Amino acid sequence: MNDNAKFLQIQDVVKDFGGYKAVNHVNLDIAKGEIFALLGSSGCGKTTLLRMLAGFETPTSGRIVLNGVDLAGMPPYERPLNMMFQSYALFPHLTVWDNIAFGLRRDGLPAEQVAARVEAMLKLVQLGRYAKRKPHQLSGGQQQRVALARSLAKQPQMLLLDEPLAALDKKLREETQIELVNIIEQVGVTCVMVTHDQEEAMTMATRIAVMSEGRFVQVGAPKAIYETPATRFVADFIGNVNLMEGTLAVDEPDHVVVECADCRHYVGHGITGTAGMPVAMALRPEKIHLSPSEPAGEFNKARGTVQELSYFGSFTVYRIKLGSGLLMAVSQANTARHREHDFTWGDTVWAQWTDATQVVLTQ
Ligand code: ATP
Repeated sequence: MNDNAKFLQIQDVVKDFGGYKAVNHVNLDIAKGEIFALLGSSGCGKTTLLRMLAGFETPTSGRIVLNGVDLAGMPPYERPLNMMFQSYALFPHLTVWDNIAFGLRRDGLPAEQVAARVEAMLKLVQLGRYAKRKPHQLSGGQQQRVALARSLAKQPQMLLLDEPLAALDKKLREETQIELVNIIEQVGVTCVMVTHDQEEAMTMATRIAVMSEGRFVQVGAPKAIYETPATRFVADFIGNVNLMEGTLAVDEPDHVVVECADCRHYVGHGITGTAGMPVAMALRPEKIHLSPSEPAGEFNKARGTVQELSYFGSFTVYRIKLGSGLLMAVSQANTARHREHDFTWGDTVWAQWTDATQVVLTQ
């Protein structure tokens, strides 16, 4: 079979641990060349799903099909995929060169082919001059690249990454994310990664599945998940968000009005819902504008006082206490050294947003 859109098919997969469904009827098609992230908090089942792909766990039911081949019953070492672990699992007593060569030699590849592949991998991860070093003589980021080189040396059809950057500190992690994506794209290998770090998933993945309690809550491109979260859970899990509970007051095909304790939201499109139902409004902090005086119009504005402010250099985050007691986060870019209005603790301010910025959540 040569269906690139369905390179990996996960069909109604369940993993039951003694009555507890760690993975609960999951369906997913992954295209060839995708970098797909399984994202969720601890215990949501993402590692169990990855381990089933690798063959370390057997699905209780369902099928996993890679490039047209059902992987059921195929042991991990026979699967045309490779898993890179969080700990890298490098052999401490072997050099970088020998670590990369290990799997190739074990497969009985002729020496000259082993050498050619190792050299190509060292070039790919730019570690040629470290070939003779042992893992402990490398930085965390370099060790991670050796592990990647070793995982790719056997030219797997699929690369599985288990929290690939968890061992690195924040700054190095951010640099390495880009590096890793560049290498994966250069090789063109299809990739499934597990992470609990939403920024990592957003930066690296072409698509993300947000998982909760063994199920996929939403699957989509990073931007779609950020801008149009499907549920309160996803909105809250991905990035910072203000969630305002309210009631659907007006439900027209081309617009809706939602009444919340602190404001009335006008949204310039229809939703699937019925008037009177409870909904939540999701509003990202960077999409809100602060002004000292009341904006015109009756919708999409709320009055409050500055309760906290945190200066981050390129932006400032304000926490505005609204009438109901809700703390609204507002992020303002510091585009000029001195802004027109510099708000400070205790100031009365108006928060305002446009009718295309909120998301109405019915779940
Ligand atoms: P983390 O990020 O903490 O690794 P996760 O999302 O990867 O979390 P899993 O490791 O997939 O979560 O675990 C999902 C659930 O299944 C958890 O409640 C866990 O306790 C349970 N679980 C995992 N492996 C087993 C096992 N071998 N036997 C019994 N329960 C298990």
